Amino acid sequence: MKKKKNIKYIFVVGGIMSGIGKGISASSIATILTHYGYRVNNMKIDPYLNVDAGNMNPTEHGEVFVLSSGLETDQDMGNYERFLNRDLSHHDYITSGMVYQTVIERERSLKYNGKCVEAIPHVVDEIRRRIEDSALRLDNDVQVVEIGGTLGDYQNLLFLETARQMHLDMPESVTFVLVSYLPFPKSIGEVKTRPTQNAVRMLNSYGINPSVVIARSEGLIDQKRREKIARACNVPKGNIIPAPDVKSIYDVPINFDKAKIASVLIKELSLQKRKTTGVLKRWKQISRNIQNNKKNPVRIAIVGKYFETGSYMLSDSYVSVIEAVRFSCACSNTRPEISWLSAKKFENRTAAKHLEDLQNYDGVIIPGGFGSRGVPGKLAVIRHAREYGIPVLGICYGMQLMVVEYMRNVCGKRSANSLEIDPKTRHDVITIMEDQHEKLADGQYGGSMRLGAYTAHIVKETLLHSLYGVDKVDERHRHRYEVNDAYVDEFEENGLHVSARSRGGLVEAVELSEETHPFFVGTQYHPEFTARPFFPNPVFTGFIRAALNKRVV
Ligand code: GLN
Repeated sequence: MKKKKNIKYIFVVGGIMSGIGKGISASSIATILTHYGYRVNNMKIDPYLNVDAGNMNPTEHGEVFVLSSGLETDQDMGNYERFLNRDLSHHDYITSGMVYQTVIERERSLKYNGKCVEAIPHVVDEIRRRIEDSALRLDNDVQVVEIGGTLGDYQNLLFLETARQMHLDMPESVTFVLVSYLPFPKSIGEVKTRPTQNAVRMLNSYGINPSVVIARSEGLIDQKRREKIARACNVPKGNIIPAPDVKSIYDVPINFDKAKIASVLIKELSLQKRKTTGVLKRWKQISRNIQNNKKNPVRIAIVGKYFETGSYMLSDSYVSVIEAVRFSCACSNTRPEISWLSAKKFENRTAAKHLEDLQNYDGVIIPGGFGSRGVPGKLAVIRHAREYGIPVLGICYGMQLMVVEYMRNVCGKRSANSLEIDPKTRHDVITIMEDQHEKLADGQYGGSMRLGAYTAHIVKETLLHSLYGVDKVDERHRHRYEVNDAYVDEFEENGLHVSARSRGGLVEAVELSEETHPFFVGTQYHPEFTARPFFPNPVFTGFIRAALNKRVV
């Protein structure tokens, strides 16, 4: 084992309820500490038994974020990468499923020397090994560990127990941040602190006391409430960090910095003071650009199917796409107005009217997806956008459907389809990748797609080439199907060009020339996963520019 450097650990836990910004808090803490000169790493622990996030339904769990290594993870990992401005590794993500799998495999191969294998110590030791492994990989000073779920969940108890033990062994190097919510019931007219007090009590019952409480609330909390929480929760008043709702998540590091969270953590962890790096200055600028309110917005429609849950529409399934749009808008001096259009709308009796309404948008994105639901609607949208010159960006499934639509409506192959939708189609213009047959026949669905970063070689003199300005680019993938090479000549002769291929020859991108269409680009890869606040993805930037031009006309 590597020699242990004195790394500091900040465990971020959530009280009261989920969805209050624990991930953004963890990302913001990391950003701020980077500003104060420390090398920081983020990691996420998800308590579910899935080995990774790959097989989870995005409507229930949100986006599956793919790391460059190919690991399918939780959407919070995307936030960490965007806030830290670097790639994270697969060591930085843990699920209970992964932990148990390792422990059980070890037991099966007699690595526990005949001992009875138990949650404590064996599972806890494996969790700790993984946390330390992640922290020690790079030359980090601070490791920010977000424990998924909410206090009181049965599933994350062993993670909290691991954190407690780490604190016991290294009291000067381990600290806890509780992100809690303070409700403001309108009928009472006052912010209530009691749920947060109860959350701290629960944490205390696990042998842990937070050193910082991030008080999430609708508005700013007053001194009186801060004092109340401090007193009841055994935390100094200065360690209660107010965190009111914000217009943009990119304001959170700035707000936390104003509340002096860095000096609190530096003191709690006995960190040596360092020279600041200026990260927050750039951050302020980017946050201002992202919220650009001066100009008219660019109107973007995302046509998908993973946002309806009951009577609510959630955008969580496409977070990285939304953020990628935001960054490209920020650098193009505009801001997006994003609309969610359910693909279903374009399939029923009123489809024609909805297609006509597409003129109200400056650009359309067809994001990734799986299965046949919503496909006819997406095909109708692609056709309309192609015929009426609306800028359209197809990502992964979106790109595959662009090819299907083109083969059907331009090349005249009416039965052209993806094998994913119609396994018996006469024209499988989108076919299954060679190595996938066996995997599917064996029922191997977990982590078995073409995943992670692969190099796309860009064809010179294409729109894509002019966007990237380089001959090759590493982008992230997540798919089982691919464009069938047998049809490439035919659609190319009819005007749809292949603009990038992998080293093995797989079609990575297609486009119509700019003379034919202002922006008709599809990528087999997901450009949204590499878009960062300071480094927008060129494909999105090209799309936004084309959308802006459409509006001006
Ligand atoms: N369902 C398609 C495939 O597996 C596309 C996947 C995606 O959009 N991520 O190839």
